[in-house]
Amino acid sequence: MSSNPFTEDHNLLRESFRQFVETEITPNIEHWEANKICEKEIFTKMGAQGFFGVSFPEAYGGSGLDIWSAVVIAEELAKSNCGGLAMSLYAHTYLPLPVLLALGTEEQKQEYLTPALKGEKIAALGITEPGAGSDVGGIKTTAEDKGDHYLVNGSKMFITNGTMADFIVLVVRTGEGHKLSLLIFDTKIEGFSAVPVHNKLGMHTSDTGQLFFENCKVPKSALLGEKDFGFYYIMSNFQEERLIASITGTASAEHAMEVAKQYMKEREAFGRPIGKFQVLRHKLAKMAITTEACRSIAYRAVAEFIEHGPGAYKIVSMAKAFVCEEAFNVVNEALQIHGGWGYMEDYGVARSLRDVRLMTVGAGTTEVMHEIISKIVIDEVSHTKQIKKR
Ligand SMILES: Cc1cc2nc3c(=O)[nH]c(=O)nc-3n(C[C@H](O)[C@H](O)[C@H](O)COP(=O)(O)OP(=O)(O)OC[C@H]3O[C@@H](n4cnc5c(N)ncnc54)[C@H](O)[C@@H]3O)c2cc1C
Repeated sequence: MSSNPFTEDHNLLRESFRQFVETEITPNIEHWEANKICEKEIFTKMGAQGFFGVSFPEAYGGSGLDIWSAVVIAEELAKSNCGGLAMSLYAHTYLPLPVLLALGTEEQKQEYLTPALKGEKIAALGITEPGAGSDVGGIKTTAEDKGDHYLVNGSKMFITNGTMADFIVLVVRTGEGHKLSLLIFDTKIEGFSAVPVHNKLGMHTSDTGQLFFENCKVPKSALLGEKDFGFYYIMSNFQEERLIASITGTASAEHAMEVAKQYMKEREAFGRPIGKFQVLRHKLAKMAITTEACRSIAYRAVAEFIEHGPGAYKIVSMAKAFVCEEAFNVVNEALQIHGGWGYMEDYGVARSLRDVRLMTVGAGTTEVMHEIISKIVIDEVSHTKQIKKR
């Protein structure tokens, strides 16, 4: 794989998205963060400019580019240093929409995917519940088959875009054990309500909601894919969110490192710039090595995903686990380099640290990634042993 996978088209996209970030995002971040708000308007603007649809087919209003174009958007968003907004935007685009594209009927795609890519409808993915997150098989929200509709009852927790969403790709129980299904839940349906979750450590410019479903009548036409196959769809169709998390983590680490580098030139102690102290120079060197390692595994995961689709889940899980842990370490070191000022809001590193902390939890925890990887690795080892025995 080339170390620079970006073409001229990607570079042009990066340039125009950078301008968008400079005019529409950067000037508002302080206000959004201080007031903990995520504005619908930013979705409309992103959609109007075509930034949601870069890697989606033209038939649904996308640009039909490859997934590297999504990488460009994710990198530039991460460098804007507003993790909350970045998360809301990619929780709209890369959590529910790939599964809608993969499994949706033509009518479902026209009704939900096309307006979502235009930013006219906001999307969310509803898996987690108060009592079950990693253990997807433990979810309790039910969808009872009532002949001409499903009757949905239960609740969801920590759902990004949860109070703003026009529709939610909702995971519901339709039978015993692993019999789960996916519904495209229209939030206008009677019996649905959502309350914002404000007491978060970070990601303040993102809407996090707790959702309630009380005798919601959902038409049968809202079923996404086949009934009772939801668990398997979740296991195989959610690689994009982990890829984007790996890219975002890498770019967040890089941003924090750049901020620290600048500070090392400006800040003086003991009569010289702190960048003259070898201890800090070596700290920066380690941050640079780690960031480069993050980029390598994240880009390799993207390349394998392009080649093998969801079958690339081993490297995607590895990238997600590695990058999200290491990005936190790099940002933490950047804060350390800022001394007391790092702990204040002035340089933005405190915000980076709060936001990046979520990355080892969201989109599948590090422990869950390790569980997935260990199963594959152990299988590979036993396969090698079998070959040797023969
Ligand atoms: C700000 C925010 C936004 C979010 N957005 C969304 C969203 O848009 N949609 C959505 O559906 N969810 C969302 N989530 C939920 C998130 O995906 C879950 O919090 C995460 O999957 C972990 O689930 P949990 O919180 O129930 O923790 P638990 O699953 O209870 O885990 C608790 C601890 O046990 C560990 N653990 C669990 N199982 C195992 C195992 N088998 N082996 C080893 N260790 C294990 C975990 O790694 C963790 O350390 C969001 C969460 C937050 C905080």
